[in-house]
Amino acid sequence: MTSEDIVLGSDTRVTIGRAQTHQNSSVRRRLGLSVFTTCVLVFLVASAARAHAGMSLVAVSYDGWGQLAALAATGLRIVHYQGKVFAALCEDEQIAALRRRGHTVSVLDSEASPDDYYLVDPFPGDASVGPGMAADVYPYGEDDSIIRADPSQAGQLARRGLGLVKLPPMIAFPDTASCGTALDALGQRDPTVQAMVGLVSPALLEEHVCKLQDSDAMTYCNELGTRFSFSPDGLGEAAAYLRGQYQMLGLQVAYEPFIHSGTVMTNVVAELPGSDPDRDRIVILCAHYDSISELSSPQNPHGPAPGADDNASGCAAVLEAARILSGYRFSKTLRFVHFAGEEQYLRGSADYARQMHERGECIDGVVNLDMIAFESIPPADHTVEIHAGDMPASQALADVMIDSIAVYGLLLQPQRIASGATWRSDHGSFWAQGYAAILGIEDFDDFNPAYHSTGDVLSNMQPELMAEFTKAAVATVAHLAGVMRTPLPFRTYLPSISRVGG
Ligand SMILES: [Zn+2]
Repeated sequence: MTSEDIVLGSDTRVTIGRAQTHQNSSVRRRLGLSVFTTCVLVFLVASAARAHAGMSLVAVSYDGWGQLAALAATGLRIVHYQGKVFAALCEDEQIAALRRRGHTVSVLDSEASPDDYYLVDPFPGDASVGPGMAADVYPYGEDDSIIRADPSQAGQLARRGLGLVKLPPMIAFPDTASCGTALDALGQRDPTVQAMVGLVSPALLEEHVCKLQDSDAMTYCNELGTRFSFSPDGLGEAAAYLRGQYQMLGLQVAYEPFIHSGTVMTNVVAELPGSDPDRDRIVILCAHYDSISELSSPQNPHGPAPGADDNASGCAAVLEAARILSGYRFSKTLRFVHFAGEEQYLRGSADYARQMHERGECIDGVVNLDMIAFESIPPADHTVEIHAGDMPASQALADVMIDSIAVYGLLLQPQRIASGATWRSDHGSFWAQGYAAILGIEDFDDFNPAYHSTGDVLSNMQPELMAEFTKAAVATVAHLAGVMRTPLPFRTYLPSISRVGG
C-alpha cells in the first residue's frame, strides 16, 4: 500500500492542526494579536471545522500488527484496534483507498464527532448496551460496540453500569527507534531478584487493603473515607496515605491533579531514579486507587465504595513492590503510579499517558495491576490473566511476567491474552499513546461477585492470590528495570503492622 493512496485528506488535517498550534504559541509570545493573525486563525479553525463535516467513523478489517502499523504511519487516524478490526476517522477518499486495497470498510457514523466516542468494553458484572440508551450505538468487531455520547450522556451510562473506554482522537503508535524495544528475555533465575521476591509480606499487603477500604460495617480497617472517584475528601485521604507510604520509603512523590466533570482528581506518582546512561528510560508499575459502588454517585459522593479487590489490591501490590524495590538500585527509572478517575473512563491514566507522550518520554513498559485478589474457593487454582493486546512490545512484556512466574516458582497459572484483550483499565491509556503495557487481573471466568459493590471488602478476598501476584510484579519490574550489580548492603524499610485481622 502506498501512503499517497491513504493520507491525502488526513494529511491536510494534520497540517492544519500543526499550523494552528504554531500560530497559537507565537501569539502568546508576542503579547499582541494582530488583525492579520486573527484572520489566519479564523480561516484555519473554519477549515478544520469543514474538514470534520466530511469525516466518518469507520470499522476496517486488517491482517496483523505490521499492516496496522503501516497504515498508522501513513497518518490514518486510528482510534482503536482489536484483533482483526480497527476503528478510524476517515474522509471519503481514504475509505475508497482502503477498499481498493482489499480492506472491508463499514461506515459506522457518516458525520463523525471525534470527541464523543466510547468503546463499550464490559467486564463480567457490567450492564450491556440495550434499547432505550440515550446514545447512538454502532456494532464494532465480533461482540463489541462503540457509542457516541456527549459527556453528560456518557456519565449517565457509566452510572447505569456500562463499562466504557473513552476513545482518543487518534492513537499513537510505538516509536521503535527510541523506546519499548529493550526488553531482554528473562533467562535464568537471578539470585538478587529471588531475594526480592522472598521479601513480599502478605501481612503488609493486607494492612494496605485494610487501610484503603471503606466499609462502615467493619469495626476495623475503617480509617480512611470512601474512595469513590467523585469524593475529593475521601480520595484525598487515600492519596495522603499513599504519599505517606512513599515518603517513609524516602522516595520522591508528587500529586498530579487533573479535572474531570468539574471535579479535581489527583494521580499520585512516586519515583525511584535510575542510573546513567539509562536514567531516562522509565518502567511504570501502576494501579488505580479510586473506586465505585451502588451507594456512591455524584449526588451522593460520600457513599461507601470500599473497593478492596477493585483496586486496593493493586494499590497494595504497588506499595509493597515499591517498599522492596526501593532497597535496590536499577539502571532504569522506576515509577509507582496510582491513578484517580479510572472508574470514569480511565481519565487519570489518559491524562498522564498523553502528557508523557507529548513530552516525548521514553517508557519501556507499564505493568498495571487491577483486581488481583479474588477467586472462588473451590477451586483455588490461582488462574490469572495477563492482558497483552496486539502490540508486539506489550506481548514481550507479558512474556517477561509469565516467565517470571515460572522461573521464581510462583503459585499462579497465567493466561496470556493477546487478541481480545480488554482495554478497560489504565494500561489501555498507555496502548493509546503507543507504549508497551500489560494488565494483570484475576480470572474473568471466576469473576468477583462483589465487583463495584459495597460487598467488595477484605473479608471477601483471597489475600494469597494478591501476594503471589505481587511477587510476579516485583520480579517482572526488577527484570525490566535492570537490577544493578552493585555491592550490598541495601536497606529494606519494614514498617510496623498494627491492625490486620481485627
Ligand atoms: Zn479497577
